[in-house]
Amino acid sequence: MKIHEYQAKELFKKYGVPIPNGGVAFSTDEASSVAETLGGYPVVVKAQIHAGGRGKGGGVKLAGSAAEVKTNADDILGMTLVTHQTGPEGRLVKKVLVEQGLNIASELYLSILPDRATAKNIIMASEAGGMDIEAVAAETPEKIIKVLVDPLTGLQAYHCCEVAFGLNLPAEAMKPFFKLLTSLYRMFCDYDCSLVEINPLVLTAENDVIALDAKVDVDSNALFRHKDILEYRDLDEEDPLEVEASNYNLNYINLDGNVGNMVNGAGLAMATMDIIKMAGADPANFLDVGGGASAEMVENGFRIILSDPNVKGILINIFGGILRCDVLATGVVEAAKKTNIAVPVVVRMEGTNVEEGRLILAESGLNLITAVDLKDAAEKVAEIVA
Ligand code: ADP
Ligand code: MG
Repeated sequence: MKIHEYQAKELFKKYGVPIPNGGVAFSTDEASSVAETLGGYPVVVKAQIHAGGRGKGGGVKLAGSAAEVKTNADDILGMTLVTHQTGPEGRLVKKVLVEQGLNIASELYLSILPDRATAKNIIMASEAGGMDIEAVAAETPEKIIKVLVDPLTGLQAYHCCEVAFGLNLPAEAMKPFFKLLTSLYRMFCDYDCSLVEINPLVLTAENDVIALDAKVDVDSNALFRHKDILEYRDLDEEDPLEVEASNYNLNYINLDGNVGNMVNGAGLAMATMDIIKMAGADPANFLDVGGGASAEMVENGFRIILSDPNVKGILINIFGGILRCDVLATGVVEAAKKTNIAVPVVVRMEGTNVEEGRLILAESGLNLITAVDLKDAAEKVAEIVA
């Protein structure tokens, strides 16, 4: 789960990771009030959306006076901010973070994330931090240092040294940096994070080390033990269809293609997406209705797929195990009765109670296209959407 910069900074504060003074504002008036508490200018007004690249997109603006805070907040609140991470449709900005403008000497990059290949946590850092970090990674990857930390032994002093020396930190900044990295690593573990990123981590003219930006992603599977993070959930930032699906415990992800698909089991769902691609079409979603789905879940899944206007054809691929084929068929028929299906549906079904399932579909009077196997199903649906 993603959270906002101002929320990530609340966590930083709790762990003693230095951040600029500031506060969140939902209106221009609130932005002005926050600015007044900061004790001087410049002040920075920052759009709060679940995407980076805000600086380049015009979502981060420096204000030299109270009047400029007003203008900047007016401009940013309500804007549709387009960055390289939002996609062309952009995101509507509903809140801003108003914070102290800092006297930046240099912008560094620091992040911690799990590294699946080594089964360790990886600390990434670079002297060349800031808004062009993607270009640094692509063109001069040697400028990014990586330090692996075994989660069983945890972060040790020598890891901190390796990162600090790699960053060429001045001697005065060493101690505060060690403290910062130690706290950040503790937070990363305590909160089951899948990413903690500070870009830029700034070195001020006074050699203070401060987190100017903050990105924290928490593993959604661990949210049950982090109720405080659940409070941070912002439904405005999520895909409305994915929010609806999560209300029904369905694993649904909205994609760009036009073949809607409903599958039981994540592995089978991924294989189905591959085979749709191989047949020359593009999946409109990932949907795993789960091994033990009820007819009601199937019905909801079907309705969610149909509410995506890009969907031109649907492929249902079910291997009946715990989810029996007759239960699936009942769900499909119920959903079809309630929703006006304007697109063709190809069904590939095998496994427990397949004969009963087929009978239910055949007797439903619905225009369903049956397939003999998965390849046949993918080809049929690809032909339909071509
Ligand atoms: P994003 O990564 O989404 O572009 P950042 O928070 O990193 O947003 O801000 C972009 C840039 O704006 C930073 O690299 C920094 O140069 C500048 N900036 C952000 N916050 C401040 C601040 N409090 N004081 C001074 N400059 C800032
Ligand atoms: Mg940034």
